[in-house]
This record gives sequence, structure tokens and C-alpha cells, in this order.
Amino acid sequence: MRRRIVVLYVFLAVIVSSLVAYVTYRYSSQMYISEVENSLKNEAVLLAYTLKNMNGSGINDGDVKEIAALMDANKADKTYERRITLISREGDVIADSSALSDSMENHLDRVEVKMALEKGLGTDIRKSETTNKNLIYVAYYSEDIDCIVRISATVEHINEIRNTILFYAVIAVLFAMVISSYIALKLSNFVLRPISRLVKEYGDNKEDRESRGRDKKDEVSQLSYTLSSLTQSLEDIIKELKDRNARVNTIINSLNNAIIAVDKSMHVIMINPVAKAMFNINYKNDPVGVPLVHIIRNKRINDLLIKSITGNMVLDDEIHLTENGKRIISVHVSPIYPDEGNENNGGALALITDITQVRKLEEIRSEFVSNVTHELKTPLTSIQGFVETLKNGALYDSNVAVKFLDIIEIEADRLRSLINDILELSEIENKKQETDLSYFKLHPLVAEISEMLSNAAEDKNIDIKIQVSPEIELRANRGHVKQLLINLMDNAIKYNKTGGQVIVSAQVFGSILEISVKDTGIGIPEEHTDRIFERFYRVDKGRSREMGGTGLGLSIVKHIVQLYNGSVRLVSREGEGSEFIVTLPVIAG
Ligand code: ADP
Repeated sequence: MRRRIVVLYVFLAVIVSSLVAYVTYRYSSQMYISEVENSLKNEAVLLAYTLKNMNGSGINDGDVKEIAALMDANKADKTYERRITLISREGDVIADSSALSDSMENHLDRVEVKMALEKGLGTDIRKSETTNKNLIYVAYYSEDIDCIVRISATVEHINEIRNTILFYAVIAVLFAMVISSYIALKLSNFVLRPISRLVKEYGDNKEDRESRGRDKKDEVSQLSYTLSSLTQSLEDIIKELKDRNARVNTIINSLNNAIIAVDKSMHVIMINPVAKAMFNINYKNDPVGVPLVHIIRNKRINDLLIKSITGNMVLDDEIHLTENGKRIISVHVSPIYPDEGNENNGGALALITDITQVRKLEEIRSEFVSNVTHELKTPLTSIQGFVETLKNGALYDSNVAVKFLDIIEIEADRLRSLINDILELSEIENKKQETDLSYFKLHPLVAEISEMLSNAAEDKNIDIKIQVSPEIELRANRGHVKQLLINLMDNAIKYNKTGGQVIVSAQVFGSILEISVKDTGIGIPEEHTDRIFERFYRVDKGRSREMGGTGLGLSIVKHIVQLYNGSVRLVSREGEGSEFIVTLPVIAG
């Protein structure tokens, strides 16, 4: 490689220096000739002026010879000799300093003479026919003396000058060769040494590189091979990293939790779609690199992350979000370490879970427990009270004792219904899907329930009307449909007026069965209609208890309907009556 660089360098140096030498050689000759031409021009003009003063009369060869010798003698530059010729307008030689004018032929055809007559001044370089020497001619036509003053000079010495320039040019080329070889050698060392080092440093750990690299001594080939294998390794690493990144992104994006990672200066490193949705982030571009406060204006989350970064701490908190709907989130923050074993974190990661539903369920559960406790306590306290009174003597008053025992029976009955309803509700609630499906006709079922409730209806003189086609057959859990109808029809009787009506009707729309239980009772005020299906919710607590209600009937109805993905709705007017309409997709094709 080194040899190639030196050869190339010397070659270039020779070419360049030769070119320079040639141009210098041509240019300097040209310069010299034009210098001589100029000087001769001035002398011709001067001579014409002198001759004018002499009136030009009787000038002969001897005179001009003397003038030429005088000029040669007085000039600083003595490298050339002058020859002066005076030529008439017609081309006849009047006087000449180097030959006999009489014997000289007409000069009108001479280039410089023609030019002088045309333009006033003419020049030419050629071999003189008279002196047989290479001459430079300058002719000047003077109107004052009406003749041409021609001064010529020998140009033999120009060749000498040219030869001298050529000699120095050759010397310069040789010198350039030596110097350039030296520089090329130094330069190649300068360039190739680091390359060799690079090859050694990066190439040595590659087994196959060594085997191939050993064959090639040329450093650049080795370097190019090393670089290409380095590029290959880099490409492999980049591909591996890209794959890993894609896998991590897929995992992060498919998580149900919100994830936000920030660097030490609280700029976003990563944020997953769940987090964007949770905080309603409609950032035009990817918010990576943006300060977190610009996209999530929640002081507590920001503070938690900062605390985790500065204190290298894992922290947990529960935050109530007010913006974008009321939600409760659990935030788990931990520092991010750039690499294993590094104690300085590079930022922090927040794992955020929406626990609104969990907290709501917990609330419902605890409310339910306290409700159940309360509901159970009431009849139990009553029973306990009457038992105490009986023990304290009332037992011996048979009238009072029977009355108290009746109350105890009613309270025990209430307890039983309550426990039954709680068990029923929990059984239905825990079911993900309806089971024990069978085909049965609706009419006989409604009739059976009507019969069951006939005593209660008769007590209030209530007329139960069944408007159900005997044809309607459904596929469902008979026990659950029965429970649903009992609860609705029982309520329709319980909350009815004396002499009122209960109408049970059914309609089929494709696979949908619509059952309506309508009464002419007390109705439900509008403000209660939204909450009526909640557990233990009653419009009038006292009245419901009095009627033996548990407050769970409609809740059971709602859960049964949900098992079928059906719906239940209430149309009611206070004082006029209520209608519960249940739709169930239970009609068998
Ligand atoms: P309860 O055992 O108290 O009847 P439910 O869950 O069946 O409990 O009903 C909840 C409340 O809804 C009742 O306490 C009552 O106030 C009201 N309610 C239910 N059905 C009717 C109806 N048909 N007419 C008027 N009010 C009703």
C-alpha cells in the first residue's frame, strides 16, 4: 500500500511540476519578447523624432550604423544588437545600419512594413534575408518625416534564455520528485499507522477476520474488511435491539395498566396508550421528550416521580382524579436504572392502575354487609325483646302470650325470607352464565304463581289478570323465571290498593320475550326510579317492612335479567300504578 501511495504521489508531482515548468517556460519567453518589442518601439519613435529635427536630409547607412552603435552602447540591456533601417513609403531602403541600402531590395512586402503603413506600427519575428539571423522587427511610420523607421534586434539570445529556463525546469521537476517521494513516504506513514492500529484493535477479536486479514497485508483492505465486519456486527445488534424493542412495545401497549416513564429532568421517555387515554392526552405528535407537566397536570403524580428520582425510592399512592370523570387511581412509582449495578437512576417509571371499579365494589360490599347486619338485627332484636317479655311474666297471660308469639313468628318469617333472598341473590350474582336451561310454556308458570299469591291478593280484593298466550314457549331456567315473576307479582299485590288490579301480559318479538307486570297501586315517585333496583333500597322503609319486604326483590330481578343479557324497565306514576317490563332473549327458534 505504502509503495502505491509513493508511486502515485511522485507521478502526480512530476505531472504537476512539468506542467508548471512548461507554462513558465512559454510565458517567460513570451514576456521577454514583448519586453524587447516594447523597448524597440520606443526607440523607433524616439529615432523618428530625432530624424525630424535633423530634417531627415542626407541620412545614410553610416549615420544609422553610428546611431545603432550608440544605442547599443547606451542601453543597459546589452543582450541584443540593434539594426536600424529607414524605409520610404514606397518600400525603398533609404539607410541601413547592417547592409548597403543601395543593394537592398524593395521592403514593401515585409510584414512589419505593411503593418506600419496600415496602422502606424508593425512587428514580426523571422530570419533576415539580409543578415541571415533570427530577428525581431519593429517598424514605425512617422508622418513627420514620411518614412518608416525600423529597428530590429537579434533574438538568438532568447533561445539561450529559453534553454536556461528549460534547464531550471528540469531541475525543479527532479527536485519535486525527490521531495514528493519523501513527503509521500511520511504521509503514508502518517495515514497508514493509525489504520494499522485500528485494524489491530478492532479486527483481532474476529476469528474469520484474522484468517482473511492475514492474507492481505494492505492496511486499507484490512481496515475496509474490519469496518465491514464491524458494520455487520452493528447491523446484527441494531436488528436484535429493534426486535427486542418491538417485543417490549407490544407488551407495554397490550397492558391494561397505564405506564409512564420519565428521565431525570421529568421529560417523557415512554407513555403507553392506556396512559394516554386515562389522562386524555391528545398530543399531536408522540409526546416522547416533552416535559411531563405539559401533558399531565397532576401535581401528585409529578411529585411522586420527582421524589422517586431524587430519593431513589419506590413509592405507592392512591389518587382521586377529578378531571375527565371522577376516578381513583393507584400509582406505583419506582426509579429506573440505566444498567445493572448502577446506583444512580436515570429517571422513574409510574405504573398506574384504575381502581375506581375495585373501590366501588368494595364500597358496595361493605354497604351490603352493613345493610344485611342491620336488616338481620331488626327482627332479631324484636324476637329477643318479646322472648324477654314473655320470660318476665307475659307468658302467664295467655292472650298476651299468643299475641307475642304471633309477632315472634312474623319476625322469624321475615328473617327466613331475608336469608333466603340474600342466598338467592348471592347465588345469581356469582353466576357468570345461566344454567339448567329447559323448554317450558309461560302461561302455566304465571298461573301457578297467581295461585300461589291468591291468598294475599284476596286479602286486598285484588284481581290478577293473565294475558299470556298459551302458545308462548321459552328456553330458560324455570326456577329463575319463576323467582323473577314472583318478585314482580308479589310487589304488584303488596304495593297495590284494595280492589286494585294486577295484569300480567307477554309478547314475543322474534327471539325476544317481553313480559309486563302492571298494577294499579301506589306507584313509585320519579326520584326513586333510578335506584329502585339497588339492594335494600325501598321507597318507604316502614311500609316495606310492614309488608314483609326484604328490599332485595327487585335486585334479584335485575340480576336474573342480566344473566340473560336482557333488560328491565319501569314505567310508573305516583298514585296510579307501576309497570315493570322485562325483555329476555329466551324464545326458542
Ligand atoms: P321489598 O322487599 O321492599 O318489596 P323490592 O326490592 O322488591 O323490596 O322493592 C324495592 C322497593 O320498591 C319497595 O320497597 C317499594 O318501595 C318499591 N316497589 C317495588 N315494586 C313496587 C310496585 N309495584 N309499586 C310500588 N312500589 C314498588
